[in-house]
Amino acid sequence: MKRVLIVEDVAETRRWLTGLVQAAFPAATVAEAATLRAGLAAIRDGFDLALIDLGLPDGSGLEVLRALRQSQAGALCVVTTAMGDDASIVAALSSGADGYLLKEQPEDVLLRQLRQLSLGIPALSPAIARRIMEHFRLTGPAAAPDADLTAREREVLALIGRGMRNTEVAASLGLAETTVAGYIKAVYRKLGISSRAEASWHATRLGLSGGQTGGQAGGGSPANG
Ligand code: CA
Repeated sequence: MKRVLIVEDVAETRRWLTGLVQAAFPAATVAEAATLRAGLAAIRDGFDLALIDLGLPDGSGLEVLRALRQSQAGALCVVTTAMGDDASIVAALSSGADGYLLKEQPEDVLLRQLRQLSLGIPALSPAIARRIMEHFRLTGPAAAPDADLTAREREVLALIGRGMRNTEVAASLGLAETTVAGYIKAVYRKLGISSRAEASWHATRLGLSGGQTGGQAGGGSPANG
């Protein structure tokens, strides 16, 4: 990081952030802006990294973030704020923030997070990372992935789970081999798997393997015709 911009309205916090940046990147030149207006004016100079406060006296730091994003795609924009609410996080991340740091964190944690930016590691306060993970846990697929399998896909899964080859499955179901291959591809995609062994495991898990217990891999004699 050669050129760093700090947008922060509280003078004391600004000095503290400048100190952190100088500790993290001793060779960097640091520019400071105390208002949205000053921040917008400053970005013309070009920066590698910007630490941007959200609550500024004349508006939201997100405007600086968006303007910097637009004019310098390579610049890293990290929000440094006291606001850890979901709306602020979503607004910042959807505006293209590369990180989100809460200012109340211990100094050594912040320092490490700044240094790691050079390694491509997103600067996220643990509390923010947890909120993001929780968000995806709550909004992710509610149903198990296998709920998406069609009746035909379940049939195909049952047969390959018994160790049948594609040709055997095709013959058994009276389908073309390419059609069976298409079903298998769909099943693999929906279950997020890539091998026959995994397919067999899922077939068993879903109760599709014929109700027999014990190993039956490869032991099946496909009923042709
Ligand atoms: Ca502020």
